[in-house]
Amino acid sequence: MKIFNTLTRKKEEFVPLEEGKVRMYVCGPTVYNLIHIGNARPMIIFDTVRRYMEYKGLEVNYVSNFTDVDDKIIKKAIEEGVSADEISNRYIDECKKDMNGMNVKPATTHPQATQEIDGMIEMITSLIDKGYAYAAADGTVYFRVAKFKEYGKLSHKNLDDLQSGFRALQVTGEEQKEDPMDFVLWKPKKDGEPYWESPWCDGRPGWHIECSVMAKKYLGEEIDIHAGGEDLIFPHHENEIAQSECCNGKTFARYWMHNAFLNIDNRKMSKSLGNFRTVREISAQYDLQVLRFFMLNAHYRSPLNFSAELMESSANALERIVTAVSRLKDIRESASAKELRDDEKQLLAEAAGFTAAFEEAMDDDFNTADALAAVFELVRFANIKAGEESSAAFADNLLLQLVKLCDVLGLIVEKEEEILDKDIEALIEERQAARKAKDFARADAIRDELLAKGIVLKDTREGVKWSRA
Ligand code: AMP
Ligand code: ZN
Repeated sequence: MKIFNTLTRKKEEFVPLEEGKVRMYVCGPTVYNLIHIGNARPMIIFDTVRRYMEYKGLEVNYVSNFTDVDDKIIKKAIEEGVSADEISNRYIDECKKDMNGMNVKPATTHPQATQEIDGMIEMITSLIDKGYAYAAADGTVYFRVAKFKEYGKLSHKNLDDLQSGFRALQVTGEEQKEDPMDFVLWKPKKDGEPYWESPWCDGRPGWHIECSVMAKKYLGEEIDIHAGGEDLIFPHHENEIAQSECCNGKTFARYWMHNAFLNIDNRKMSKSLGNFRTVREISAQYDLQVLRFFMLNAHYRSPLNFSAELMESSANALERIVTAVSRLKDIRESASAKELRDDEKQLLAEAAGFTAAFEEAMDDDFNTADALAAVFELVRFANIKAGEESSAAFADNLLLQLVKLCDVLGLIVEKEEEILDKDIEALIEERQAARKAKDFARADAIRDELLAKGIVLKDTREGVKWSRA
């Protein structure tokens, strides 16, 4: 399996630190709003990387944070007259709903910055002790960039060039820095902001230190893969390397992966330009599987332009897989012969070639577009080679192969089995019994289970009524 490593700018064979195990950290969103489809790109891409590694038998410890203390969160909290916690908790919940809709698996751990302040104070203290950081008179703590000679190795920037660039850009109010390149590890509170006590001042952490600390706590001092969008290469990831390597004295991450940006109308999609679309808006128009397909149909290191036409063609393409799957199911159900015939065995050996092509594409730096092309070859093959005369085993084999490959990509291609009226009524009865027994957890679980299947319950004076949403 080869990965393009931003650090070396080369595709390299992936060799995990510990055999059979992968330690992977993906920078997550700052939670002050519904996520937009640009944020969805790294979620879908790196979830697919994880799924493929799991398919190959690797155990992936996947950590992705929520940045829940930040200027933008505080600003939104002030606007709404609520606490910063209320804002971040609300948008973490909403983000999880969107992830679920896109079939992005929950991370092994989703740490939150505000829960990890002790670790941050500890790492900053250690950086000060080692001479890599210093506290200014007002209690702001800075990282001493020039002391880390490898600074710039990820973004391929030269320390001297950076230094003169920063000098030209010197910002007022930062005179207390020893060097304009130095970045903040801890900053004093302002009125009305959330803060924590520290040896330097009441305040809060800088953004970069969060990820260094959370990666260390949940994955260790050395990790295999660190990932995020390409805008994070500099300064965020460069600063994470500086903090972690100076504190721990070890190489932080061996492989750095970065997805290219999602554009809209060929312009960078961003909140400041006001041209973003939320995942929630897309879900009103399409099944989010279509969005997932759209993302995977391009290479993750190529810029991708969002357009209505591409979404339409993604919807049609996905539908072709779904139709092939349900056709194979029909063939399997109505087949007169059960067992594989010899000619079918041969055909299955041929079909195995599509899985090989799929793996070859994924092994080549997760070329999901080529992997999807292999899936469509298999769809075409199944549409031609399976029919009324096929055995149940033949249809079943092709079906399993197709569903498995789609599952590696996180694409759900099997239509939900329809829930029958009698099953709904049985569950409603069970819910009533649970309520009578004051087992409200079970009662709620049943309501949620039905809701997930599109069944809405309504308590009326005449009893519980239900309808299909
Ligand atoms: P943020 O909440 O801005 O820190 O972003 C969370 C993640 O989404 C980071 O990995 C960003 O690099 C990524 N991201 C933000 N906007 C885009 C975009 N338009 N295209 C691709 N990735 C993006
Ligand atoms: Zn980060």
